[in-house]
Amino acid sequence: MEGGKLSAVRIAVREAPYRQFLGRREPSVVEFPPWSDGKSLVVERNEYHFDHAYPSTVGQEVVYQDLIQPLVERVILGFQCTALAYGQTGTGKSYSMGMASTDKPEHLGVLPRVLSDILDRVSAMKENRTGNTQVFASFIEIYNEKAYDLLGSEPHVPMVAARCHRCTCLPLNRQEDLQSLLNLGTGNRRVRATNLNASSSRSHAVVTIHVKSSTFHSRMNIVDLAGSEGVRRTGHEGVARQEGVNINLGLLSINKVVMSMAAGHTVIPYRDSVLTTVLQAYINKITHRTVVSYLLACISPHRCDLSETLSTLRFGTSAKKLRLNPMQVAR
Ligand code: ADP
Ligand code: MG
Repeated sequence: MEGGKLSAVRIAVREAPYRQFLGRREPSVVEFPPWSDGKSLVVERNEYHFDHAYPSTVGQEVVYQDLIQPLVERVILGFQCTALAYGQTGTGKSYSMGMASTDKPEHLGVLPRVLSDILDRVSAMKENRTGNTQVFASFIEIYNEKAYDLLGSEPHVPMVAARCHRCTCLPLNRQEDLQSLLNLGTGNRRVRATNLNASSSRSHAVVTIHVKSSTFHSRMNIVDLAGSEGVRRTGHEGVARQEGVNINLGLLSINKVVMSMAAGHTVIPYRDSVLTTVLQAYINKITHRTVVSYLLACISPHRCDLSETLSTLRFGTSAKKLRLNPMQVAR
């Protein structure tokens, strides 16, 4: 990543707290061995190594400072950065990314913290009269293989996926502007209850904070993916089953993109799903600036979720091998 030639996806794993409604407290399936130095965890006697491994006791502030704050420094310099939350429903993806509102500062997630840091830097730049930099945000949803501009005048009409970069950008001048923007977008999201989590969202959400100056347009993308669990566990038929298939198509495609890159292939199958088409600009090298990304893999402490936990850890492990090569091209 250093030196601007290669960029890497960094991987962190975060264990969710116990879900209250599961009753009796069993020991977590995830262990954090004392020798791990905060970088490894053990599940079913297998040890997994990542850039960070967080037990459920670690709070939002630490996760932000370790993973995301260094990316904010890059965004201000004109880099494209992405923070992506992956994992089963109910494991804290939306909580970590800060998609929901909260009154308690310790619960603030990535999004409000990123904005606050970016606004601070931009106002310092203005005081120093170093350029006319402005901050905007866009909010898109990918649902059932279609992308929607949640801040646009027609939030229920699908966009052409390849034109998602032309979606509506609203100015963020103050921290308070974020909440009204999220309320507007969230109100337009499609939420469908499932057996797993009554408020589970069945779609992928991408909130982008844009920093525009006369010399660059950089982006911090905050991606809250739909639950990675298989359709078999959501218990829906018909339309909802089709949604499940499409949610998995997006996630499978991310897997395929990551695997292809990790294997050093020159043709990367971005166009296999709307999600990867939209993310292509963010995970590929689109400017002379290096792309920097963080994947937060969220896992459950519960034994009943073990197979999903293992599949999330496998995904994280393959993503770890990812090194973007500037010669790689999109199909
Ligand atoms: P997901 O988006 O992965 O489906 P959520 O972010 O909605 O999961 O989390 C499910 C519930 O657990 C929410 O009520 C959330 O506030 C809570 N939660 C998740 N992670 C944490 C955490 N680390 N600390 C406190 N509460 C959490
Ligand atoms: Mg969620």
